[in-house]
Amino acid sequence: MNLPTTLGELRKSTFSEQRLRARRTKDELRENLIARIRSGETIFPGIIGYEDTVVPQLINAVLSRHNFILLGLRGQAKSRILRALTTLLDPQTPYIAGCEIHDNPYSPICRRCRDLIAECGESTAIAWLTPDDRYVEKLATPDVTIADLIGDIDPIKAARGGHEISSELTVHYGLLPRANRCIFAINELPDLAGKIQVGLFNIMQEGDVQIKGYPVRLPLDVALVFTANPEDYTARGKIITPLKDRIGSEIRTHYPATVEEGIAITTQEAWAARNGNKLVIPKYVREVVERIAFAAREDKKIDKRSGVSQRLPISSLENVISNAERRAIRHQETVVVPRIGDIYAALPAITGKLELEYEGEMKGADHVGRDLIRSAIAKTYDQYFNGVNMQQVIQWFDLGGEIRLAEGAAAVEVLQSLRNIQGLMDKLTRVNVGPKDSPEVQVSAAEFALEGLYAQKRIGRSEERVFSAGEKPPKAAEKPFEREEGPYRPRRPLN
Ligand SMILES: [Zn+2]
Repeated sequence: MNLPTTLGELRKSTFSEQRLRARRTKDELRENLIARIRSGETIFPGIIGYEDTVVPQLINAVLSRHNFILLGLRGQAKSRILRALTTLLDPQTPYIAGCEIHDNPYSPICRRCRDLIAECGESTAIAWLTPDDRYVEKLATPDVTIADLIGDIDPIKAARGGHEISSELTVHYGLLPRANRCIFAINELPDLAGKIQVGLFNIMQEGDVQIKGYPVRLPLDVALVFTANPEDYTARGKIITPLKDRIGSEIRTHYPATVEEGIAITTQEAWAARNGNKLVIPKYVREVVERIAFAAREDKKIDKRSGVSQRLPISSLENVISNAERRAIRHQETVVVPRIGDIYAALPAITGKLELEYEGEMKGADHVGRDLIRSAIAKTYDQYFNGVNMQQVIQWFDLGGEIRLAEGAAAVEVLQSLRNIQGLMDKLTRVNVGPKDSPEVQVSAAEFALEGLYAQKRIGRSEERVFSAGEKPPKAAEKPFEREEGPYRPRRPLN
């Protein structure tokens, strides 16, 4: 498609004055959203688990032409959602070529462009923006200044051009004016200093602002969107009231509600498609990785206010795959199959993402991380092996059996020893693994069963990954099929 290059051509094209003159960014988002709803297409593809909660509220905010804020803890896809708004922008947007603030050709707000059109008329040059060009993002920090965000008076520009110091021709534009006719996202809004918030509010409300005491008129067309941690946002004094008042919608994000949703997100985001050997990630490995995040979000040793990012399971899974990849390369195995031991090796991807409370600090991040992995394994093991009698396996260890499953050990090396543990390999039908599967797959599954028994403290395991008999509590006999007491049995009195 040949896009018009002058104002005259633009006027005669589908980008007519009648259509574009008064069409602001929020109108554009709204119109394109309506078209998308009509067509029945997915509105925000790739945003999982928000279909019934966040997305409907987001749609309402856009339909209402609101500036809005996403309130949520870290790693809840807030930035991703804001970036996805660009899919609701027109594929091509004309502006006056050379304009620093992408002026609308039919209603320029800067003096330079108004003067230019007065001089060149219909031959004024037109340039074009794509949706990606129209997304501006800024992380708010306490040191952001009015000059950064809105602009500064440039005395040299004033002197050279012979302008009044407060003339709009002497303004050096900041980020916000440069985001004219764009989506402008400010992350962590409460970190912005109060007087910057006032400047922001003035632009939103009045279209003018004071720079170094001089009033400057800037009737910008910007769709403003924000993110914040909910506690920071609601804390008194962090956000000036008039600004809060101008934010049309507050939308709360959340972590995945189910392990399945978490797995779907992690599968989408983690880098697994590597150029190399065939990769088979057992479902139970994905589940354990995901449950680490779920367990961490519940753990009182971990700071609830900052949350546990979805990036934890994503980076962990990547490290798990890498550890398995390393083993496969070393032993020239043709298929990469992660094991539970690889999850312990992924600790470096876990510890840095936990903000510890005092109790956690005392124990240390490594210790807390290991506890989380272990409890995630115990839960996952329960999902697969609930009701399976593992007594024979436990007995094998109780009778003095020991086996070392080093995380770097080749599958063929350890498979034979695993087969010696009576009653183990035939239980792997629970994870759909049988003798016909590759050694890598069988070893991974057998190790999962043993790690599960260890996580439930029914067998022991050393730091060197030697599995052995567990320490038995004095009386607890193993009776997986019977309850200790039936619901109707009268309580036996103690002697
Ligand atoms: Zn301009």
